[in-house]
Amino acid sequence: MKPDLLKTLKKKILVCDGAMGTQLQAHGLGPGEPPDLWNIAHPQVIRQIHRSYLDAGADIILTNTFGASRFKLAYFDLEERTAEINMAAARLARAEAGEEHFVFGDIGPTGRLVAPLGPDPLENFYQVFKEQAQALAEGGVDAIIIETMLALDEAKAAVLAVKENIRLPLIALMKFEKGRTSDDYHTVMGVSIPQAIKDLAQAGADILGSNCVSGVNTATAIIKRMRPLTDKPLMAEPNAGVPRLISGETIYDEGPDEMEAGIDDLIAAGANIIGGCCGTTPEHIQRIVRRVQEYQTNI
Ligand SMILES: [Zn+2]
Repeated sequence: MKPDLLKTLKKKILVCDGAMGTQLQAHGLGPGEPPDLWNIAHPQVIRQIHRSYLDAGADIILTNTFGASRFKLAYFDLEERTAEINMAAARLARAEAGEEHFVFGDIGPTGRLVAPLGPDPLENFYQVFKEQAQALAEGGVDAIIIETMLALDEAKAAVLAVKENIRLPLIALMKFEKGRTSDDYHTVMGVSIPQAIKDLAQAGADILGSNCVSGVNTATAIIKRMRPLTDKPLMAEPNAGVPRLISGETIYDEGPDEMEAGIDDLIAAGANIIGGCCGTTPEHIQRIVRRVQEYQTNI
């Protein structure tokens, strides 16, 4: 039987997978194509990507459902297929992960602003997140991860929707950036680290942290600031550096070597789960696994 996630984290650091989007593009996902539909249209590709991260040594894989909320799918007129897409994605990940590895059901931001900034009241966000999380749970995930959140009201609605309706561990991550003039980190919507930690923990998140930040050293700086603020496990998923647009293509330039070199500091800062976000590859994950294993045999 699979060990309990939160108990496991008391004993060891876990490694999560790397980017899904980058891998999908490498497999031919076109610009403007809904990546979440590939769970149904190209299930073998999704399984292959999951497999590549498991082979790299990841303990955890994320479902290909970052954009599979009803609000996000509505951009592609796919909103009526929300449950189907999320369930399919969860089953694909579960099939590849077996019972030895963890599957986290992935929930991203909706791309909409809560009223009065946008047309939808907070209650609609709650329902949208509840629907997605329930479908992921039904498909067999071990935990729900809410990622790349920028707005605190949306992030809290997501945490509450999961916590009040699904009995699974819950991870909530926000995307922080360093201010241009200060040494402080905020989301683009102006949420500070202490505010995020306090509010998301209060709403019921079991694991906190940050993802989609520019490189491993930025992730370390953020985790360092979070660690004194909470006893909960912390998770970090840095991007492979800072994205640069070169002749219409997004390039990430933090290679596996550079990422590996920063992992000891990220562990020392207090990270309990380490994975990769945009631009990371199975090779990045393989190197993270190597550092984490080395650290664990030395403690
Ligand atoms: Zn990212």
